[in-house]
Amino acid sequence: MKINCLSCGHKLDLDETYNDYEGQIKCFVCGALLEIKSEDGAIKSQKFVKIVRPSVEEAMERKLG
Ligand SMILES: [Zn+2]
Repeated sequence: MKINCLSCGHKLDLDETYNDYEGQIKCFVCGALLEIKSEDGAIKSQKFVKIVRPSVEEAMERKLG
């Protein structure tokens, strides 16, 4: 099953464990937490739980103050 990350748009490959699933998954590209609900290998709903920003960006923001 494939799902597009809502944060970075990357196509995530999920194995068949997630064909019937309700819960959180983590994008391995940007680290965002998504809450998904799937049924028979199709996404029923998908929403953000948390956007994790790269630590580099946070460090820059701190510097800019
Ligand atoms: Zn992502």
